[in-house]
Amino acid sequence: MAAHRPLIAGNWKMYGRTVDLAEIAKLAHTLSERAGGVEALICPPAPYISGARASAGAHLAIGGQDCSPLQQDSARTGEYSAAMLADLGATYVIVGHSERRTQHGESDAVVRQKAEAALAAGLIPIICVGETLAERDAGRVAEVVGAQVEKSTPETSAHVAVAYEPVWAIGGTTTPTLAEIAEVHILIKAVLERRSSGAPKGLRVLYGGSVAPKNARDIFSVEGVDGALVGRASLKAADFEAIISSHPAAG
Ligand code: PEP
Repeated sequence: MAAHRPLIAGNWKMYGRTVDLAEIAKLAHTLSERAGGVEALICPPAPYISGARASAGAHLAIGGQDCSPLQQDSARTGEYSAAMLADLGATYVIVGHSERRTQHGESDAVVRQKAEAALAAGLIPIICVGETLAERDAGRVAEVVGAQVEKSTPETSAHVAVAYEPVWAIGGTTTPTLAEIAEVHILIKAVLERRSSGAPKGLRVLYGGSVAPKNARDIFSVEGVDGALVGRASLKAADFEAIISSHPAAG
């Protein structure tokens, strides 16, 4: 289904300083010597996007971690638009991360508006979905994730990425089993295929939640996994590079 290369994205969250742009330069250098079968992306905090873009060269994409749902320049203190991210050289933006959904009360409707704003600005949105542990324990994974995908994804879902990030697997040490990951990825693709009456061109479904050099190879072997969204292990070039190298397409 995926017409695009697999995507391995790093989310730096609210970590890093100017000095850490050296990690991006190091990673970019390593990637420039590889075959490039995998697309690599780093999403630093917004104040560092310009610096990251300047350090990243031609083989590493740079993205934002969030954007305003508004498409017009507006009186919104502290907000920035998808168009501004694009202006700084970003090509992707993460929307609807569970930390935004829980800490900032973002609804599926807002996440969808953000994804639409991203598309309008020429960015590829990475739309995050995922269940809590209580929802998993209650056997509600398909219902919860299916509804999030339906409501958070723009009608035209070509050229979006969806990240399946079980909330309970983020920032910890446990992940779902490989069979559980496969089940949800297949479900997400089925929902989007039904909506767009056919496989959306260019759709990639990433797995996120405690991806590390030690489990990446197994996760990349799972049916329906088109890459990863990585938090902690994306902060150091060596760890992120090890994850990228674990992908069979990395060459
Ligand atoms: C994330 O926050 O998107 C994430 C996947 O974090 P970690 O890899 O640290 O679990």
